[in-house]
Amino acid sequence: MILRSCVLSAAIAATLMSTSLPSAAQSTPPRAEQSANPLIGAWSTPDGVPPYDRIRPEHYEPAFDLAIAAAREQSQRIANDPAAPTFENTIEAMERSGRELSRVANTFFTVASADATPANQAIQKNIAPKLARLSNETMLDQALFQRVDTLYQQRADLGLTPEQNRLLEQTHKRFVRAGAALPADARTRVAAINEELANLGVAFGQKLLADQKANDVFLSAAEVEGLPADQASAAAAAAEAAGKPGQYLFPATRSAAEPFLTAAPNRDAREKIWRAFTFRGDNDNANNTSAEIKRLVELRIERAKLMGAATHADFVLADSMAKTPSAAMELLMGVYTPALVRANEELRDIQALAAKDGVTDVQPWDWRYYAEQVRSERFALDEAQVKQYMPLDGIVEAMFETTQKLFGLTAHERTDIPAYADGVRVFEIREADGRKLGLFYADWFARPTKRPGAWMNSVRVPNGLLGETPIVVNNQNITPPAAGERALVSLDEAQTLFHEFGHGLHGMLSTAHYPSLSGTAVSRDFVEFPSQVYEHWITEPTILQAHARNAEGEPMPAEMLESLLKAQTFNQGFFTVQQLSSAILDMRLHQLTALPADFDAGKWEAAQLRELGVPEEIGMRHRLPHFSHIFDGGYSASYYAYTWAEAMDADGFDAFKEAGNVFDPELAAKLRREVYEVGNTRDPAESYRAFRGRMPTADALLRNRGLK
Ligand SMILES: [Zn+2]
Repeated sequence: MILRSCVLSAAIAATLMSTSLPSAAQSTPPRAEQSANPLIGAWSTPDGVPPYDRIRPEHYEPAFDLAIAAAREQSQRIANDPAAPTFENTIEAMERSGRELSRVANTFFTVASADATPANQAIQKNIAPKLARLSNETMLDQALFQRVDTLYQQRADLGLTPEQNRLLEQTHKRFVRAGAALPADARTRVAAINEELANLGVAFGQKLLADQKANDVFLSAAEVEGLPADQASAAAAAAEAAGKPGQYLFPATRSAAEPFLTAAPNRDAREKIWRAFTFRGDNDNANNTSAEIKRLVELRIERAKLMGAATHADFVLADSMAKTPSAAMELLMGVYTPALVRANEELRDIQALAAKDGVTDVQPWDWRYYAEQVRSERFALDEAQVKQYMPLDGIVEAMFETTQKLFGLTAHERTDIPAYADGVRVFEIREADGRKLGLFYADWFARPTKRPGAWMNSVRVPNGLLGETPIVVNNQNITPPAAGERALVSLDEAQTLFHEFGHGLHGMLSTAHYPSLSGTAVSRDFVEFPSQVYEHWITEPTILQAHARNAEGEPMPAEMLESLLKAQTFNQGFFTVQQLSSAILDMRLHQLTALPADFDAGKWEAAQLRELGVPEEIGMRHRLPHFSHIFDGGYSASYYAYTWAEAMDADGFDAFKEAGNVFDPELAAKLRREVYEVGNTRDPAESYRAFRGRMPTADALLRNRGLK
């Protein structure tokens, strides 16, 4: 299974919701400004959607400034309320607040990632420190925290509903985890640490990008011989654009390196590409990231101690479904051990095939190439032929049909909704009784200004308090079809389509009363469960058979379908060892309680890999020198979450298989009620148990990956 990038709203929510932003409702901007700027004032669009047809880039910053000022004022009003704190005048008031800022921010951040033009990037850069400042002020506001803390201490006597109690506990926890409960000097130190961490993260990311660019590889025609035509022609065009016509440019990115390493017969060229990709951030130049890594880890250790946690990993996991590093490590090692056995079997197959080529010392740059040979020999699958049976339109039909069969929902395209870019489609999702559930923006095609990967984000979350209809967005980078042709997708892209729509359903189906507990605002190790479990239905033969059809309308041949599904477990030893070595090192690094003065991330990494017995031919999916997830992506001590969620999705889907019907109505209703609808209104472990009747085990994951 390929790791996907995921819920953008989590990042936005972290900036916005977690600050419990105060409302801008009372702020009335001058009339002239209202009429000139479509972001300010009421939106007279259908369903109150963002007026993208009228917004120009220069509208965002003034709208942000007004909304931030109003948010600050409202926060202070709650904090300085002369009345004694009540749930309504404090916790609920915070939930009602920040509407204007959420609206502007969600409208903007939807576009910032999907259409990252220089103008939008400049806005993002200007806005980020203003949002961070507001967040810090709010979370460290002692008067506000005193009110929250007073209510928290009295919570048993307040007559709260279970959801209100959860909201109070979660709000209190956010303040405490931001440092609000610490003595003044420690609070000051935490704020300084947070600021330095943020700066170090930015420095890490910028060095990495610079080193990636410095590591561009230009190859000759001889070196790309045997490469598929689409890869070669894209590389030739890139070299031409870079002023080196006649050569072939391969950037040191995963999306360029992995296909090259899989397909290129030239071994020396493979080594060049592998080295450029693998040593990003680890070269002897100004872009080396080791100093940033050391300082980041040191500061995280210091902050954890100030917060009273044993380690940074303990601090992070206290706010997760796993709850402790040892619970996460138990799962990781339980999967790693059998994966290593399988990987060594795969290595023997690869060595045997490579020997026929005269390669007797298989190296890391050989693995993918020979694995692909083993795969095509064993499964006789031609990716290009498979794609002919996978039209995007058919897969979208399959996705909506699955939703109808499981939850009774239907999708109806809306053409009256202004979208932010060409090619974005908008669907109204309806309940079985015709009631409107929400709006779904589908932005499936690649464009030059879109960031890579796939993700979901929320423009508006469903909630009873404000009575709002949800709007969710899915993004992907599917190659647009040539004029007059059908868009085709790979199985992996089809799984991603289902995955992101799973997040979308999670974002639309929530029945939470309070916005900050709604939808995908759940812990990181739970948020991938609703999306990953939804992926399973695309590989159900009945669904694929009905919708995977070629241009003549013929279904995918039975042998092709069978091979395609069987090939899902191929090379999983390699993938699992790669993924888990990164997850295990992330956790171990963040379980350290001190760093020696001469700590060197590279040496530490090498020693850990030796101890784990990771074959050198495999290595890590993300080496520490460029592990963006954990150094500038908010996933420190959390990379395990992908594996954690996979254990749940495999085990969760097993429930349907055990029932003998993958659309079992009773189970589907339970999945909706106990998982998709609950948001963060209760502990995620409780939600899982309510659906499955017990906690997940790793058995189904191991079986699905063919490791059992
Ligand atoms: Zn995801």
